[in-house]
Amino acid sequence: MEPVKVMGLVLRETPVGESDRMMTVLTAEYGRISVYGRGARGLKNAMFVSTQLFCYSEFVIVKTGETYTARECSLADNFYHLRDTLPGLALASYIAEVAADIASDQREQGDLLRLTLNSLYAIAWQKKPLSLIKAVFELRSLAGAGFMPDLVGCAGCGKYQFSTYYLDIPEGTFRCEDCFHKNSGEMETELRKENEAEGIYSAAHLIVPIAPEVFVAMRYAVYSRPERLFSFDLPQDALSDFASVCEKYLLCHLDREFRTLDFYHSVI
Ligand SMILES: [Zn+2]
Repeated sequence: MEPVKVMGLVLRETPVGESDRMMTVLTAEYGRISVYGRGARGLKNAMFVSTQLFCYSEFVIVKTGETYTARECSLADNFYHLRDTLPGLALASYIAEVAADIASDQREQGDLLRLTLNSLYAIAWQKKPLSLIKAVFELRSLAGAGFMPDLVGCAGCGKYQFSTYYLDIPEGTFRCEDCFHKNSGEMETELRKENEAEGIYSAAHLIVPIAPEVFVAMRYAVYSRPERLFSFDLPQDALSDFASVCEKYLLCHLDREFRTLDFYHSVI
């Protein structure tokens, strides 16, 4: 393969040997790729500043087996002000870990790259509360990764204006109060059957009642145009419910733990 130019965001970098680094880079064209930076940790190396974590850079790469090697790399933005606060830096690290987790190799990832860059930008310039940026990133990135919730109408009756919405986190659907009560009998029986052996039964973590303003924020995060994604505000109570439900949604569907998320919660 001839060397190609590609814009990419460094989501992870690991030191190798004396002065090299291996990077996980998110690109629009190739999805998530591994890029080797020979000599990139050398202070006098031309790639030193452009191959660090959170750098958005123009790479000139050649394919070498399963990975790529960077021939050149020039910095477009390093989101310097991400480092201004510890919670901001912690959130950026979590966002980078999630993006690396859900970005597949060999697949176009323009939407995820754009979302990740916009989220880092919003953190760096303190455009919105961190919990709002985090929640929007979680829900939107999951929607793009094949876990799009259906927030158009109640799964029972199809209507959409209620005083409480019962969000079914694993299903990614919601029900109104009436349909929730009609359905909860059946659901309880199913859960009992599944969990009888272990003697555990709880629906509380699966179905979350949410207020209209939280529901509207979720719809916004899923359906709005990318450039308008962070253009809304929520009162404090609703914001903390929104943050909590979006985090549950992500953890339920990705079904793994994130070390960076634990760190974020320890400094917030
Ligand atoms: Zn209904």
